Amino acid sequence: MRHSFACFTLALTLSCVGAQGQSMSPSPASLTVIRAGTLIDGVSESPRKNQLIFVRGERIEKVAEGSAAIPSGAKVIDLSAATVLPGLIDSHTHIFLWGEDPAKGGYDANILKAGIALRAARATYAARRALEQGFTTLRDVETEGAGYGDIEIKQAIEEGTIPGPRIFGATRAISTTGGYNLEGYAPELEMPKGAQLVDGPVEARKAARQQLEHGADWLKVYMTHRSWVDKEGKLVSQPTLTVEELQAIVDEAHGWQKKVACHAYSGIGLQRALDGGCDSIEHGLEITDVQIAQMKRQGTWYCPTLSPYYDDWAQPDTPEGKRDRARAAVHEISFKKALQAHLKIVYGTDMGGIPWTEPIAQEFKRMVSMGMAPMDAIQSATSRSAEMLDMKGEIGLIAAGAYAEVIAVTGDPLRHIEELEHVRFVMHDGSIFKNELAK
Ligand SMILES: [Zn+2]
Repeated sequence: MRHSFACFTLALTLSCVGAQGQSMSPSPASLTVIRAGTLIDGVSESPRKNQLIFVRGERIEKVAEGSAAIPSGAKVIDLSAATVLPGLIDSHTHIFLWGEDPAKGGYDANILKAGIALRAARATYAARRALEQGFTTLRDVETEGAGYGDIEIKQAIEEGTIPGPRIFGATRAISTTGGYNLEGYAPELEMPKGAQLVDGPVEARKAARQQLEHGADWLKVYMTHRSWVDKEGKLVSQPTLTVEELQAIVDEAHGWQKKVACHAYSGIGLQRALDGGCDSIEHGLEITDVQIAQMKRQGTWYCPTLSPYYDDWAQPDTPEGKRDRARAAVHEISFKKALQAHLKIVYGTDMGGIPWTEPIAQEFKRMVSMGMAPMDAIQSATSRSAEMLDMKGEIGLIAAGAYAEVIAVTGDPLRHIEELEHVRFVMHDGSIFKNELAK
């Protein structure tokens, strides 16, 4: 889909440069005022009507009532017919993953068929897709065999070479022997893996140190791998790291003041993830009541990813088909339990597993259809995710002092959450990236 861009220049000496849609940051002295018809600020429980957002440089200077004076010389952006929100945060993406469609070679084709340049080009596309859909921050939870590519894409974004969101990268991820793809090839072959495989606490700690040394903002650990349905029809997940291995990683990460995201579906592996001190549980398809209580006690973040488990099921009478249906069934139950228990739920999609051509905001309607209030869903993708990322007050809200990450939609997302799939205006760090609402 094509969209219009507005280059935004505030000083005579600045001009619109770089990639299409990328504009220079406004000079620190210049003031932009956004007139918001309705403001959902990411923190408050209710929206506010007719607000003014004062933006200076890359930060929000203040938010005021619509009647406040606007200094002469300020650039005014009229979004009075729109609902304005903070830039969205997706806490579970893979910019280096290009779908897992079996007809296109499945997961393995990502690693076996695409060279690193092609993968980087695709990641560049993914980064741009996120920004144009109003996702101004991604926690990107591993590169699937593309090494430290996420940190370099992040660098390219930060230096202004390519457009893209703020990225928190997890680099290579960690699992164990027998705990990650590529697999199923002749045993004589040394196949590349989509994660760094370790065995024993010493190797686990070393992998953590290597990844942190090379710029990982988070560590990602796979605590479960394969899953299937047993004779009783119950979902079973193969555990990977031991508690001791995980503890070495968590201990190392926390020493660097970084956090650990644990992929964990259910059972033994999920229990080890909690006992080993994971900061966030990814997917968490089947969480028992006792485990919910443990997450509550430990303050563990929960990043469900509902969307990928509700599409593309295999035939019902096959083992894969039974597994796919069991995953979706238990995930819904766990999500509802987590809601009831007021766990700290953050918004995550697993984009990359889902093709990057699809709407990133599709998870909102899943969350809301399973009982989450629309405002709660919005906060899961704004201020709550920001807190998990240690960016409280800086992103995921519209308030004085925060980065000017501002998006707008024309309808009311509190009544129709799908409106968030049609973001019409995007400001990232004080620069307008997209404006389809320009008069
Ligand atoms: Zn994932």
